[in-house]
Amino acid sequence: MEAPAPATVLPRSKHPIASRQFSTGARKVLRRLRQSGRNACLVGGGVRDLMLGRRPKDYDVVTDARPEEVRRLFRNSRIIGRRFRLVHVLFSDEVVEVSTFRGAPDPEHQRRSPGELLVTSDNTYGTPRQDAFRRDFTVNALLYRASDQAVVDYVEGLEDLDRGLIRVIGEPNLRYREDPVRMLRACEFAARLGFDLEDRTLSAAFEHRREIAKASPHRLIEELLQLLSSGRGAAAFDWMGRSGLLPVVLPEVDEVSGQSSGTNSFSNLAGLLDERVRTGPEVPTAVLLSSLLLPRVVVGRDRLEAGGARVHRRRLQQLVDDVVADFGGRFALSAARRAGMKKALETFQRLCEGPRSSRTVQSLVRREAFGPALELFTLLSAATGSGAEALESWRRHAEAAPPAKPATAGRPRRRRRRRRPRRRHL
Ligand code: ATP
Ligand code: MG
Repeated sequence: MEAPAPATVLPRSKHPIASRQFSTGARKVLRRLRQSGRNACLVGGGVRDLMLGRRPKDYDVVTDARPEEVRRLFRNSRIIGRRFRLVHVLFSDEVVEVSTFRGAPDPEHQRRSPGELLVTSDNTYGTPRQDAFRRDFTVNALLYRASDQAVVDYVEGLEDLDRGLIRVIGEPNLRYREDPVRMLRACEFAARLGFDLEDRTLSAAFEHRREIAKASPHRLIEELLQLLSSGRGAAAFDWMGRSGLLPVVLPEVDEVSGQSSGTNSFSNLAGLLDERVRTGPEVPTAVLLSSLLLPRVVVGRDRLEAGGARVHRRRLQQLVDDVVADFGGRFALSAARRAGMKKALETFQRLCEGPRSSRTVQSLVRREAFGPALELFTLLSAATGSGAEALESWRRHAEAAPPAKPATAGRPRRRRRRRRPRRRHL
């Protein structure tokens, strides 16, 4: 067997990462693990982003301590996942995810289900090198070793960072079959970092695009939400188009994506949402998700109204219900998420109606879903170049109205901690 290639080790003086850049939580976790004599490294997006001079979204730590030990070391922690046990260490404003170095996949699993590569259960522990090879992309497998502050690269991730390439570690055909969500993640990272997809990473995704149907809908929707809230959704949809994933994962976006050269059409929606995400306050989940369904709702309404007769409101509501039910079913959305989308889209429909009494206006403006609906109206108006006057008038009504009661009124406010999606990985 060929000897494994040696790791590239950049000593502290040869890379730009300084531990003072880490979040307080990440620093604490690394320190305590080290104090207990453990190997502790920062890994994943934290190292990647700091190497690129970007601000990490969250911090992932990997260690040789087992989950139970990590749990004991941090009072503010909990073990998550049954098949893949990880520890979430909870701080007031962040969650640091701590995993134990993973080893090669369990051969017993392969023996039991020959030909089936989808990894569904595995908790074998291993070395830092084995762990790096189980990660998804080369740029996501860099380690920052707390003991000597060196950056360690087993998978030629540093070269790909320089070249601006997202490359699957190992054989993409195999790695996508093990976990089809990686195909979506490839598009997301290429978009977020402004990188290219390496040729085989792209062509294998095309080949295996239909296998994305085997992925857990919960993980898919979490990745889609990450992608939408990154402010680089349009670029991600572009990569999804090129890899053939778009029609499989989001037919509603694919339907409108090539519709025009990019001015005044639905194909602008993703770009406009990106702009909104990048420049404004946090966009509610209901708006992120409903924006994907706006074209279907608007086209559906136009069809209903094509005959010229006034369409009953109940029929329009049914349209929203159907569109949300289809999307919600495909992604196994919670009842709360479906309800949020329905209310936003229904209220949006109401904003699109013609003149109405001031009582109706007041009651619409006071709805909890008015804010999300107005966001959708704003997006649509910018995309289609119409409705500017109506938008102005709704904004004026909103400013004049007393603020809507928040849904949590009366209940004590809980401090909000950043939520990290649960995921199965490696
Ligand atoms: P960010 O947090 O900025 O979105 P990230 O790269 O840190 O990006 P996470 O989802 O936080 O992504 O995952 C942390 C790390 O776990 C990844 O960098 C990667 O090394 C590994 N990982 C996550 N998902 C998978 C997967 N499906 N297959 C293999 N490795 C994965
Ligand atoms: Mg991360």
